[in-house]
Amino acid sequence: MEPAEGQRPLIGIVSGQERDGEAARLALPRAYVSAVEKAGGAPLVIPLVEDTRLAESYLDVLDGLLLAGGGDVDPAHFGEDPSPHLGSVDPERDAVELALARRALELDLPILGICRGMQVLNVAAGGSLYQDIGTQVPHAIQHRQSAPRWYPLHEVRLEPESLVGRIFQVESVRVNSFHHQAVRTVAPSFRVAAKSRDAVIEAVESRAHAFAVGVQWHPECMVERYPVQRLLFAAFVKAARAARARRTAPAETARAATAPAARG
Ligand code: MN
Repeated sequence: MEPAEGQRPLIGIVSGQERDGEAARLALPRAYVSAVEKAGGAPLVIPLVEDTRLAESYLDVLDGLLLAGGGDVDPAHFGEDPSPHLGSVDPERDAVELALARRALELDLPILGICRGMQVLNVAAGGSLYQDIGTQVPHAIQHRQSAPRWYPLHEVRLEPESLVGRIFQVESVRVNSFHHQAVRTVAPSFRVAAKSRDAVIEAVESRAHAFAVGVQWHPECMVERYPVQRLLFAAFVKAARAARARRTAPAETARAATAPAARG
């Protein structure tokens, strides 16, 4: 049975932006919204705001945070100068997403990072990235497909004992691939959950949080044709529902306790 609308956990999805000269418009592929909605979550798009403290305050009403795909993370955030092969960087988006990811980790709010989102999550937690697979990872396979978005171009091997491995319940799965950056040093409290055959890290997860997972592929583009990819969104929404229960239960108890005084 579909949960009542009020019971759907609120999943914040941070918007990207596109620049047209001086004008910027917020932009987010609808596939993220659709995948969360179909998994039983209530998607809510978070705008890029200037004040990162304001951005963090949105987490007060959210039950989960989804970090979407996009351009490159500025390597300054992991202590490196830019490689000549660095792609486009968006300082405003980096600032908002890193602040949100760090605060969500502090709150143990469920986080799902997709592609760039996995990289943001890893950097927020203290890890680093390859700025360009092609020039930094010897013998790498192709990770930037020109095949259709939904098409699974390469295989990833899942760590059976990892949360991601338990979610997918298979040892390997074929995935799409649209990245030229990749996780280099895994954040201290995180572990590798999946790799492609060239040893590029394709999924990471926190060992210290209820649900902080990043995948390098784009499951939101695959869910229509490959139902196995829906398992990831289902697990994320389930974790968000549990977070919502934790968040609302004490508040309701507190409200009941203070109600008579408030009336007086
Ligand atoms: Mn890949």
